[in-house]
Amino acid sequence: TWYGKRPLWMLVLSGGGITIIWLAAGYGLTQNIWLPVVEPTAGFLLAGALVTAQKALYRSTYDPLSGLPGRELFLIQVQQALSAQKGTVSVAFLDLDRFRLINQSFGHVSGDRVLAILASRLRQVLPTATSLARVGGDEFAILFTAPRETVERSIAAIQTAFANPISVQHYRLSVTVSVGLAVVQAGYEAGPEELLRDAHTAMYRAKALQEYRCETFATNMREAAIERLCLESNLLTALDNQEFLLHYQPIVDLNTGQLSGFEALVRWRPPGRAVISPAEFMPIVEETGLILPLGQWIFQRACRQLKDWQQEFPDLPLTMSINLSRRQLRQPDLLGQIETILTQVGIDGSQLQLEITESLVMQDVEAARELMYGLKQLGFRLAIDDFGTGYSSLSYLHKFPTDTLKVDQSFVSRIDTSHEDWEIVQTILALGHKLHMNLVAEGIEKASQISLLRQIGCESGQGFYFSRPLSSRQATALLRGDSLWPLPAAADSAVKR
Ligand code: C2E
Ligand code: CA
Ligand code: CA
Repeated sequence: TWYGKRPLWMLVLSGGGITIIWLAAGYGLTQNIWLPVVEPTAGFLLAGALVTAQKALYRSTYDPLSGLPGRELFLIQVQQALSAQKGTVSVAFLDLDRFRLINQSFGHVSGDRVLAILASRLRQVLPTATSLARVGGDEFAILFTAPRETVERSIAAIQTAFANPISVQHYRLSVTVSVGLAVVQAGYEAGPEELLRDAHTAMYRAKALQEYRCETFATNMREAAIERLCLESNLLTALDNQEFLLHYQPIVDLNTGQLSGFEALVRWRPPGRAVISPAEFMPIVEETGLILPLGQWIFQRACRQLKDWQQEFPDLPLTMSINLSRRQLRQPDLLGQIETILTQVGIDGSQLQLEITESLVMQDVEAARELMYGLKQLGFRLAIDDFGTGYSSLSYLHKFPTDTLKVDQSFVSRIDTSHEDWEIVQTILALGHKLHMNLVAEGIEKASQISLLRQIGCESGQGFYFSRPLSSRQATALLRGDSLWPLPAAADSAVKR
């Protein structure tokens, strides 16, 4: 009964057993032999029920695959350690890296086998005084009551043990693990769930940092997690509550000092708080998919603004640059949506420039190329943003119908101090010009940078030297003035090594 896998099978077996007893007793009667049947039947049933109940209990507390305790039992053990009130209590949370990949490529049976092997390795390397549990699919938790050094030594031993290759279907793979550690002193008042949660939070941090495979929980991690959750929930209503706004950073012609256009940059102003920069909220907006409605709003807002300016300043040839993000590019009906907005606002694509970062373009060259050709047909100008940071494959560059390369700020900011960066920018410029692209240097903060950029014929620039991103009102005021920047002369000598 204990090894029987399925309850139904057990029922059939017991039923069969009881039937045999009754048949034997019935046969006995005909032979004048008295066989008692009630007692063995009752015994049979009782034993079956007890074993089933115990098995159910075991299943709910132990994981059948690894034979390790499950989450419930582990929490009880942590609680006991916490209430023992002596020394330090540490909980380590282990999560296998890329385990999904193993499941996907070799199937769940192999995945289970790998888990069972790893569980037995864990049991081998851990000191006897620790409790080990499987708390999730590819997650293990360990409870230590030993001093910190022992804990760290054990974790190092686990990492070494896991690195030892496992053969799965003729492949040999080694598994890495991210570890989060939460350490508390005896008398810790929060419960075991909290301790496990903190270890979990630290594990996420370890995963994010990648090369540091073990991270210890610090209270600011919890704050960061809560902060993030808070941001996320506030962001969900931000669009409806009209808390987003666009700022516009001037892009300046480096030959004339004349304003040539603006880049639209989104900002978020939650009620009663300071403006939050896109670097902070864009990743969340992307992850939650909120970027789709937000991206549409940004596009619409920027187009309307450009239209307003065109009407007020018909003599100024202005371009508006708009950033596109990862999720937006994957949207199947992006082109349709954009086209609708263009007709609604009554503007044509040629005064709009769409910026796509280099890393996005290079992630999926074919898809990017196809999309770019589609956008080109709507008349847009296209720019590759943050150029130089995305491991470009230069041989692809000419395949894209791009008009502009935006040289990343990290190079521009150092051209006047680092010979290498100066060389890189010169090379990017030469390359861009060969491919008939317009070059924009991002993040110009000093006159000396402009001199150098002018010397090598960079067409446009953008940066705090000219202007920070401006509100719509400030930008309009700028347009009403003469919006001309005095430029320093082109440098005549290169940067010294
Ligand atoms: P980006 O597209 O590279 O935008 C340029 C960023 O550099 C802006 O930061 C701008 O304020 C900043 N910057 C400009 N000149 C200087 C300078 O001289 N010195 C320094 N230190 N910084 C300068 P911001 O507005 O915080 O935007 C950050 C990033 O967020 C943008 O990088 C872009 O990738 C993303 N982003 C901003 N707005 C949007 C948007 O509307 N849609 C999408 N998809 N992404 C956006
Ligand atoms: Ca940009
Ligand atoms: Ca950029």
